[in-house]
Amino acid sequence: ERAALASYRTIEPATKDGRRIEVAANLGSLAEIDKALEAGAMGVGLFRTEFLFMERKVLPSEAEQTEVYTRLAKAFAPHPVVIRTLDIGGDKPIAGVEFEHEDNPFLGWRGVRMCLERTDIFKPQLRALLKASIVGNLKILLPMIADASEVAKVRALLDECADELAAETVPMGAYELGVMIETPAAVFLADELAASVDFFSIGTNDLTQYVMAADRLNPKVADLNRTEHPAVKAAIAKAAKAAVDAGIWIGVCGEAAARLDLIPFFLENGVSELSMSSASIPRAKKRVTEC
Ligand code: PEP
Ligand code: MG
Repeated sequence: ERAALASYRTIEPATKDGRRIEVAANLGSLAEIDKALEAGAMGVGLFRTEFLFMERKVLPSEAEQTEVYTRLAKAFAPHPVVIRTLDIGGDKPIAGVEFEHEDNPFLGWRGVRMCLERTDIFKPQLRALLKASIVGNLKILLPMIADASEVAKVRALLDECADELAAETVPMGAYELGVMIETPAAVFLADELAASVDFFSIGTNDLTQYVMAADRLNPKVADLNRTEHPAVKAAIAKAAKAAVDAGIWIGVCGEAAARLDLIPFFLENGVSELSMSSASIPRAKKRVTEC
């Protein structure tokens, strides 16, 4: 079976009706690049930047971030590289940010909520992303989005950063801006969000936990925390329809993207990109060709 799967590494899979599907890798560090390329990753669907910020005493500088994002974009060019802005909260604190105790950190001050307040941390990341946009095919992904006002605030900051960089005569390229669909609010407001961004990426890990009100890490509610639950599938279908109607692309980057039983459902609903851990890529490519 391994030898048979190996032949799928290098293909760019399409469905039986000829829709090309991007099967990309979820990465947390540059050290995982080679493994992803060997597995046949068609780009990166989710780079979790929090690993750059965690377990260190000093936050990564703008220069260090620029280097990391540039190397990533180069390694996979011309394939897309989707870099998610810092998605961190009181459950995984980082140096330099005061997180007060929260009874419910997964419902708390995290992700884009924290970044919009701590622009001293967020702006260097946005500037680094803009600088990296001159190479490859870079896409910026915002986590934990609940409504379009958050997107507007990030866009205003991006514009501010771009003006600063232009004044410093730093070259910039084109980029796409997208949002994670991982809160029920984002699903209910999917039409409005689709009008304000270039793409959606469904975070099935959090979307499942928030739709079902069932902690993704608590084994006692694992029976409820199922992406195949009709409630979660309805949420995914609604978000996907909003994307298709608006003419933007939609991917899936939660663990469920690699599930052979769910891939047909995603593709039927208009998903065109699946992003997963590298080891799952050949098997998922094979599954796409069967759909
Ligand atoms: C998700 O929520 O599905 C996701 C991909 O992001 P994370 O697992 O990093 O929360
Ligand atoms: Mg998430």
